[in-house]
This record gives sequence, C-alpha cells and structure tokens, in this order.
Amino acid sequence: MRTPIIAGNWKMNKTVKEALELVKDIKKQERNSNVEAVLCVPFTDLMEVKKEIDGTDIKLGAQNMHWEDSGAYTGEISPLMLKEIDIDYVIIGHSERRQYFNETDETVNKKAKAALKYGINPIICVGETLEERESGKEKEIVERQVLKAIEGIEEKLLKNIVIAYEPIWAIGTGKTASSKDANDIISFIREIIGNKYGKDISEKIRIQYGGSVKPANINEIMNESDIDGALVGGASLKAKDFLKLINF
Ligand code: PEP
Repeated sequence: MRTPIIAGNWKMNKTVKEALELVKDIKKQERNSNVEAVLCVPFTDLMEVKKEIDGTDIKLGAQNMHWEDSGAYTGEISPLMLKEIDIDYVIIGHSERRQYFNETDETVNKKAKAALKYGINPIICVGETLEERESGKEKEIVERQVLKAIEGIEEKLLKNIVIAYEPIWAIGTGKTASSKDANDIISFIREIIGNKYGKDISEKIRIQYGGSVKPANINEIMNESDIDGALVGGASLKAKDFLKLINF
C-alpha cells in the first residue's frame, strides 16, 4: 500500500514571518495521520519552518537544488546544504523551472541522483504543454521525461522517488485535467516504469497529480486508482485549504 502524499509548493511566496504564521495555523488543526503532508518552501524559510514543525509529522521540502556538493555556482544551493537542514523532499524539474530557468531532462536526472545520494526524496515533475496535448503527444513527452529523469538511478533507490504528473496547461490556470485523464497518464507512467524496472518497483513509486488541485476537486482526484496524492500550488498557501486537502 502506498501512503498518500499531499505536498504544498509555496513557489516564491511567504517571507519567514508569513511562513511561520501559515505553519502555526496548519499545526493548530487536526490532520489525517494516514496522509503524508509536505511543505515545499522557499530556501529562506527552510530553517525556521523546520524548527516550527519539529515534533509533528509534517515533512519539509525544498523547491530546487543544484547537483554538485559545492563550488563556483553563484546563487545555487547544494544537496549537502539541504541535507544539513534535514529536509525530506526536494521538488525537481517543476515546469516553471523547465520554462524559465533552462531545466532540462539531463539536469533533472543529475539533481534526482544527487538528492538520493543524500537521502533526500526527489519529487520529480513531468507534464506536457497544451500544444503537446492537443497534438496527441502527451504520452510520448511524459515517457521521455520520466525515463530520462530516472536513468541510471540505483534500482534500490527508485522506491524513494515521487513523480508529480503536472500537465503544464493545468498549473495555476484553474483548469484541471479530468481525474480520468490524470489517472490514465499516471497509470501509463507506472506501466512504463514497470516495463523497464519491474512491477515490484513501479508499484512502490508514488505518483501525484498536480494542476489546480483544490478542496473542491481533491476527493475526485484521490478516488482514482493510480493517483497517490497531489502537488499543490495556489491552494497550499492558505491553512484552511491545505488542511482540507490533507484531510480529503
Ligand atoms: C504547482 O505549483 O505545482 C501547481 C500544481 O500549482 P497550482 O496548484 O496552483 O496549479
């Protein structure tokens, strides 16, 4: 059985003060302990949020990282630095990073391997553009992104990765893929991993859906057979909404 995982991607939102207010509000309410709740926060919030969630079952994640341990990479943050803060997850290859910061399948692969080396679980994002979907290429695109992202990862570590299927046209747009369409692609992802690495591994990997997930559609999404959770942007910025998602 795969534990459902609901991860909030705060993106470039929340100063330290705002972050602490939000986390305190989340902590105040009862949470479904059968669901793994993850907060993927800006680098500047990590340390303080870590202290605030200490002693709870809330997990902490970053939104990006470099693949090298250290070096002349001005402005970057390394897996070694993140490891010291003792974070659990890191989002890798979010479509906004692919679109605005030249993230490629190759850098996603390097980052995923580097995260696993330090025991940080990568949440690897994949998904097609509207144009690619309209020309019927979504499976081809997603297959390439998934297989490239996990290429060369030691098989025993594959179970630690989380994949987030996020059709780009559904992110921050209010448009959600139908839960059936999302499940169809997510089953396909499980199938291609199964074909390459075996069913034993593919059945252990958690695959989330992301794209305008909100309290009004979480139940429908989580009712699908292959969807193991959600990566949530906008609706993770308010405690009330995020709690409704965790407690779906
Ligand atoms: C995301 O940031 O990964 C995302 C899915 O955003 P939103 O929920 O706002 O569409």
